[in-house]
Amino acid sequence: MTFESDKPQTICLHTGYRADPATKSVTVPIYQTTAYEFDSAQHAANLFDLTEMGNIYTRVMNPTCDVLEQRLAALEGGAAALCVSSGQAATAMALQNIAHTGDNIVSSTDLYGGSWNLLKNTFATLGIEVRFVDPTDPENFRRASDERTRAYYAETLPNPKLNVFPIAEVAKIGRELGIPLVMDNTAAPLICRPFDHGAAVVVYSATKYLGGHGTSVGGVIIDGGNFDWELYADRFPMLNQPDPSYHGAVWTEATKPMGPVAYIVKARVTLLRDMGMAMSPFNAFMFLQGLETLHLRMREHCSNAEAVAMYLLQHPDVERVIHPSLHDDPEQTRRAETYLSGGMGGLVGFELKGGRDAGARFIDAVEMLYHVANIGDARSLVIHPASSTHQQLTEEERLSAGVTPGYIRLSVGLEYIEDILRDIDNAISAACDVEQAA
Ligand code: PLP
Repeated sequence: MTFESDKPQTICLHTGYRADPATKSVTVPIYQTTAYEFDSAQHAANLFDLTEMGNIYTRVMNPTCDVLEQRLAALEGGAAALCVSSGQAATAMALQNIAHTGDNIVSSTDLYGGSWNLLKNTFATLGIEVRFVDPTDPENFRRASDERTRAYYAETLPNPKLNVFPIAEVAKIGRELGIPLVMDNTAAPLICRPFDHGAAVVVYSATKYLGGHGTSVGGVIIDGGNFDWELYADRFPMLNQPDPSYHGAVWTEATKPMGPVAYIVKARVTLLRDMGMAMSPFNAFMFLQGLETLHLRMREHCSNAEAVAMYLLQHPDVERVIHPSLHDDPEQTRRAETYLSGGMGGLVGFELKGGRDAGARFIDAVEMLYHVANIGDARSLVIHPASSTHQQLTEEERLSAGVTPGYIRLSVGLEYIEDILRDIDNAISAACDVEQAA
């Protein structure tokens, strides 16, 4: 028996596990095993036939991953979850689970660069067209849809612009047309629950805030259990027609006794089985450790980021500050206030008056902040996109992505706030005093 609660603090410590039946271990053990012994030939047949639930092989399921899956599904208010090897694997699988050659996906333009590449280039090689639309007007999603559209895709809090996505508006359009909204909630765990606003599937890079320790790469797909795949049987043949890869199973039928989990069960027993992007039990254990303090960390990330944004706002060498609380456009402010609660995330952008050169000098001058291509670590992290992650783009492409020459992205960590501000202040002086002396 595990203690039931809908509160994140309790879910992260108790959902899905009480004590190991063999050893009474209080900590979720790392079940570092490849296979699981079957009781009998009939038992094995039942497991493969999905008439009985149980462990078969760690590429497809593992008890350590299972506890993490239960905790993440409960945290999001979803029906079930699936751990995978990275955030990229989560996005790829979440969409490939319902789209194949000839289909299309409508995606927001405001995406993490890796997701952009995956959708624009790799999906194109698979014959899946991705139509990118500006989320400023949610109706752009409707305009780009047709009968082969299988999903909408977006990030809750995409950087560098930090414009919060209009989740309910786009989810509503999708539900009118029978198209599920898949949300990447990597930058906003706990402060946003996309299912509450109508999303159908949530993906995470667990690598970031969910873990928080920066030790492990992993991802998760969470099924909201709130989308009627059967109602739109023509749009989702992969869930409603016999699947030749699983002796003709019709997923919406075969999974009925398990609840509204057709989407996630299919992902596990076909895509994960075939492509093998499994999370290792060791990484699942690491994410479970991180998850225990997620609510405390998110609170601190948010309040430290807000303090940094306010500090930068009054700095004479800072041209502009990007934070969800500081948008000029009232609609962007409304979206941030509607979809984020308990804080506005740990990301802050800012632009130094000295442009690209000052930005690069700032990066070279920080002493405590880590210069890395990552977000969501307990430590504060910094990057200057124009000279690193976005270097290969044209100036025009950089600007449309929101990366101006002097733009600096901060992932504000959990250090003592005065230390964070001191490091930033010293680095700004080092970067801008050169300009003033010249
Ligand atoms: N989604 C977002 C918003 C990200 O920032 C990242 C990585 O930076 C990913 C997905 C990909 O995650 P991973 O690095 O775990 O594959």
